[in-house]
Amino acid sequence: NADAAMYRAKSSGRNNYQFYEKEMNAMTGQRLALEHDLWSALENNEFFLNYQPQIDLESGRIIGVEALIRWLHPKRGLISPMDFIPLAEHNGLIIPIGNWVLQTACRQIKELHHSGLPPLRVAVNLSARQLGEKNFIPMVRETLHLTGIDPSCLELELTESMVMQNVEDVIDVLNALNDMQIQLSLDDFGTGFSSLAYLKRFPIDRLKIDQSFIFNCDSDPDDAIISQTIIALAHGLKIKVIAEGVERSEHMDFLKKNGCDEGQGYFIGRPLAFEDLRSLLYQRHLH
Ligand code: C2E
Ligand code: MG
Ligand code: MG
Ligand code: MG
Repeated sequence: NADAAMYRAKSSGRNNYQFYEKEMNAMTGQRLALEHDLWSALENNEFFLNYQPQIDLESGRIIGVEALIRWLHPKRGLISPMDFIPLAEHNGLIIPIGNWVLQTACRQIKELHHSGLPPLRVAVNLSARQLGEKNFIPMVRETLHLTGIDPSCLELELTESMVMQNVEDVIDVLNALNDMQIQLSLDDFGTGFSSLAYLKRFPIDRLKIDQSFIFNCDSDPDDAIISQTIIALAHGLKIKVIAEGVERSEHMDFLKKNGCDEGQGYFIGRPLAFEDLRSLLYQRHLH
């Protein structure tokens, strides 16, 4: 990345500087090209959603899915949201892209409800700019209305850094969403800087333990105690807790033993295309 290139450029003396300058310009160029292509991606239908199952750890039932955006670039192939969401946040395209994600997720989940499957919750990731947009609440209301999805089946994922900016305004927006019966969760919990005092003031329904604490929860005592403490904190506040990054059976054992409510991760299920999610749910439903 650019910082690393800059560091190498600085630490390797004048001779190499031009080379690194070129390398850095190339990277900036790539970023600009990607940003340029992002402008037309929506109208060219290059985005789609994957859905990753979330299970109730006690029963093993799929109780929800997280919608994860994918960009199939015509020339570069699949691009990770980690590479283009920051660009979209920077240039404001996150507003139309975020609206598209919400509408598509609600429409597809409603389609599953229609086909006779038990109601499933769908979690949609939000960016800070969306929450700060004046039109956000009316847009959400409109989406619920148009798709006919039960608002309690929709969950919006926030991060600690999002809710710590403009706290008073954010509380108003979150209260409005909560009044509409929409569920709210705190994503990547434990990795950001947040005041625990705010947990009391935010109408949060669920904490998502960040995957970095889960990876070694069965072997590293520090990660174990952090995970246990987040579970105890959530339950003390009478909210649910879900673990992300459940990759191995040892993670499952640890989480069940420690009373974690729900889990999500490659061991439970990879993010799936909509049609594959539908097939999985039918199979599970029939058995
Ligand atoms: P996130 O919301 O924390 O999503 C979880 C990420 O972890 C996903 O990566 C998922 O595929 C991955 N993951 C799931 N299970 C496992 C596991 O067992 N092990 C490991 N190592 N990883 C696992 P993905 O889909 O690449 O998304 C990355 C991030 O991009 C998301 O992190 C979220 O912050 C952002 N993102 C994705 N879709 C959207 C969207 O529609 N809107 C916004 N604003 N951000 C999005
Ligand atoms: Mg998320
Ligand atoms: Mg609520
Ligand atoms: Mg996360």
